Amino acid sequence: MKYSYPTDTEQFDFHLIDGQRIRQAGVKSEIRDPANGQLVAQLPVGTAEIVSDAVASSAQALKGNWGQLAPYDRAQLMFRLADLIDQNDAELAALETVNVGKPYSQALRDVGRTAKYFRFYAGVCDKLNGETVSLGPDQTGWVQPEPVGVTAHILPWNYPISTFARGAAPALAAGATVVAKPAEETPISALAIAELALKAGIPAGVLNVVCGDGSTGAALASHPDVAQVTFTGSTATGRKVMQAASNPIAGVTLELGGKSPVVVLDGTNVDDAVAGLARGIFFNAGQICTAGSRLIVSPSLHDEVVEKLSAYARGMSVDHGLNDPDLGPLISLKHRDRVSGFVERARADGLECVLGGQEIIPETCPSGAFYAPTIFTHVPVDAEIAQAEVFGPVLTTHIAHDADDALQIANATRYGLVAGIYTPDITQAMQFARNVEAGQVFINGFLKGGDTLPFGGVKESGIGREKGLAAMASYTAQKSVVISH
Ligand code: NAD
Repeated sequence: MKYSYPTDTEQFDFHLIDGQRIRQAGVKSEIRDPANGQLVAQLPVGTAEIVSDAVASSAQALKGNWGQLAPYDRAQLMFRLADLIDQNDAELAALETVNVGKPYSQALRDVGRTAKYFRFYAGVCDKLNGETVSLGPDQTGWVQPEPVGVTAHILPWNYPISTFARGAAPALAAGATVVAKPAEETPISALAIAELALKAGIPAGVLNVVCGDGSTGAALASHPDVAQVTFTGSTATGRKVMQAASNPIAGVTLELGGKSPVVVLDGTNVDDAVAGLARGIFFNAGQICTAGSRLIVSPSLHDEVVEKLSAYARGMSVDHGLNDPDLGPLISLKHRDRVSGFVERARADGLECVLGGQEIIPETCPSGAFYAPTIFTHVPVDAEIAQAEVFGPVLTTHIAHDADDALQIANATRYGLVAGIYTPDITQAMQFARNVEAGQVFINGFLKGGDTLPFGGVKESGIGREKGLAAMASYTAQKSVVISH
């Protein structure tokens, strides 16, 4: 292997609560390397009691050591955590690679982004000012932001480390405390970061991690002492989380699925568009909530874009993530079967698959969960494969006769996470940005940058915003005070 296999993955067999490694007897979930099936670690499945212990510890830290720290001092601890993440980036990236399967350099990028989130929000800590409001000659009002309370973070498996930081960092900056429940498939990096947080001097109980499955997540989302639930995952689970968090009422941020369009119109630089499409659908083997899974393209450009994208895909190296290929495995054999199911049903419906459409069995990893980059052309807008989130490297193409047609097709889905457009016509681009139903729009550079911008969906892609300063709204409660004088 180009990068060495992490040797101590089995040590991750605990929850991290109140600064302690808590081991739990009973059911364990096995974590396997999706590239070769090798056992990576065995993690406990947190019970409702364990969840309660974690929430109690976070509640204690909220009132105690974390709550008493000056914002400037909180910031210094978060900066130190970001530095520790950078200093341990190679090890963290290797852990993430064997857990998720993703190519090492992609995992390393995720680790870099994780440090960036802690650094960005560390800078926010001591700038969360309130405001005074003039109420007349005998009254003065002011508004002060306060930490919302204990916050729960229920995470998905596709970007485990950066999604963890994306929620935890603004919560900590607000002075709130965190109980995170990583996905059952990918708990390792959250445990590793929470231990680094202790090393950085962030007090015990501020950042707790409970491992487990949907039952653990449900216990956390419905816990009466949780004030805010930040959920990232599928729309179906998001609906359940919203309900669980409704009694007693907690704040809810839902970052859900997508079926994002990439529009390519006449006159654009096709090579740029192909690069954006490749990034949007083949990166992380297409397991991206923001995947650009629908290409909506002018008739004159369709064949050229598909040919160039196919040529790019055929040239992608496929291997174990630690060999840093262009394409790693999907998260599991079960998920590969799910992706394959979508493809087979589309074929059975007579749709034309011009690339891929099958598993890949690399010589180095014959038992891995690899799936080929796949393109279906001229797909009806309402076909299952053009409407459902496949969450694999599967693209559908759709012809748009003009910009209005493209917009209509772009919006013809229940999702609204991101959207992209390639066009040299600024008016076309601006009109698309205004009218497309999405939380984030990329013009002439799909999924390029934007780490510090607010992020989130409309329609069935979710509610609330993460990232940027907008995320602070989920973790602060605005208290208004009126003095009569
Ligand atoms: P999932 O919905 O199956 O699981 C997400 C998390 O919810 C896991 O931690 C799981 O254990 C937990 N969970 C399951 N049932 C629960 C319940 N009843 N109550 C509380 N928690 C429960 O999603 P996944 O398969 O892990 O992730 C893939 C999905 O996540 C895709 O739909 C993808 O688009 C979405 N996603 C969205 C974003 C975003 O920012 N919008 C980012 C990454 C992934």
